[in-house]
Amino acid sequence: MRKLIVLGATGSIGVNALEVAAHLGADAIDVVGLSGHRNVARLRDQAAACRPRFVAVTDPAAHATIADEWDPAHGELLLGADGVRRMLAEAAPDVVLQAMVGAAGLPASLQTVEAGAVLAVANKESIVVAGPLLVERARATGARILPVDSEHSAIFQALGDQPADAVRRILLTGSGGPFRTRPVDTMATITKAEALDHPVWSMGAKITIDSSTMMNKALEIVEARWLFDVPADRIEVVIHPQGVVHSMVEFVDGNVLAQLGPPDMKIPIQYALTHPARVPGPCVGFDFARYASLTFEPPSFERFPALRLGFDAAERGGTFGAALNAANEVAVAAFLDERIPYPAIHDAVARAVDAHAFLASPSLDDLMRVDRDVRDAVARHLDG
Ligand code: NAD
Ligand code: MG
Repeated sequence: MRKLIVLGATGSIGVNALEVAAHLGADAIDVVGLSGHRNVARLRDQAAACRPRFVAVTDPAAHATIADEWDPAHGELLLGADGVRRMLAEAAPDVVLQAMVGAAGLPASLQTVEAGAVLAVANKESIVVAGPLLVERARATGARILPVDSEHSAIFQALGDQPADAVRRILLTGSGGPFRTRPVDTMATITKAEALDHPVWSMGAKITIDSSTMMNKALEIVEARWLFDVPADRIEVVIHPQGVVHSMVEFVDGNVLAQLGPPDMKIPIQYALTHPARVPGPCVGFDFARYASLTFEPPSFERFPALRLGFDAAERGGTFGAALNAANEVAVAAFLDERIPYPAIHDAVARAVDAHAFLASPSLDDLMRVDRDVRDAVARHLDG
């Protein structure tokens, strides 16, 4: 029996994670804590179904709307980042499924590895901001960081126990999103609805926009660089529109191992929760007839300039990832609010990364400061 906390339980990954937990059954997984930000109606239903020890609402205004009528039989209600901190400390989880969105997830990711628990990480932003730090602290405490991101789950499975120097290349696949074939000279007119219409995956709004710009793949390059200790020049991006091969590892002897499956996040989520065991999953078997043709092509850096920033961040390390992530979060939020046109996302990010005061060996405080400063700078630039 594993004690599980699901952070960001009300989101796309969180909902899938609770379905996987229910499928695995109460004698395999004991859900001891949940967090959600604004969707308190869903969080209340989830708490009533799982009966965790703690439920944390990270948004104060949302917390205020339910605090009075909360039924303590559905768990002790906690508030904000402090509430999450207390839940992680007192519920003593074996596994924390980190499915919050954005750098806001970093403190909880760090606390999890510092406590020596398994960090099943969907929240790639925490790794992009502070990958080396998380990996180093996990090494010190013996905590494992298990990927939930489908590409990284694929790479993790393909790598097995091979050392980093057995790897020639990581081939990180990506569907190319909704704008893979759209004429580049019409990219300026892309609307919010078009960018939110992903051809393969159904996900939260922020990652769906990131998938359309391929900033999601850029963040995943950085995620792979730190999770698997592979240098940037041994990572390649491959466009694979069907989204069935979730990534590949080419070894120095010429063998290439790929991991395949239907595009359903319950599969990598379950693997992170049961690892190293493989147990029957909730998904139907792979229908090869439906995927009779799998295609691959190189990405266009002209169409997807975000990719270059991902490689730069993986190569330079330091504060680059923190700056890249912070700028992107602010610019994507502005696009989702329909305050800026689509190409302004990349322009704002490229400019902010360039302008930030780069540090090669930052402390946690340095990373948090860069996160704050870059957010302020991008907000000023976009609103000014
Ligand atoms: P989502 O928007 O559907 O859900 C985000 C969750 O985080 C919600 O529970 C929300 O309440 C919570 N949240 C929002 N703002 C918060 C804040 N400031 N502090 C604390 N919690 C906050 O997003 P999602 O698609 O589930 O993605 C979650 C994470 O998983 C992201 O980092 C994303 O990149 C990663 N991921 C998602 C998918 C996917 O298929 N959805 C795949 C791979 C990786
Ligand atoms: Mg992914």
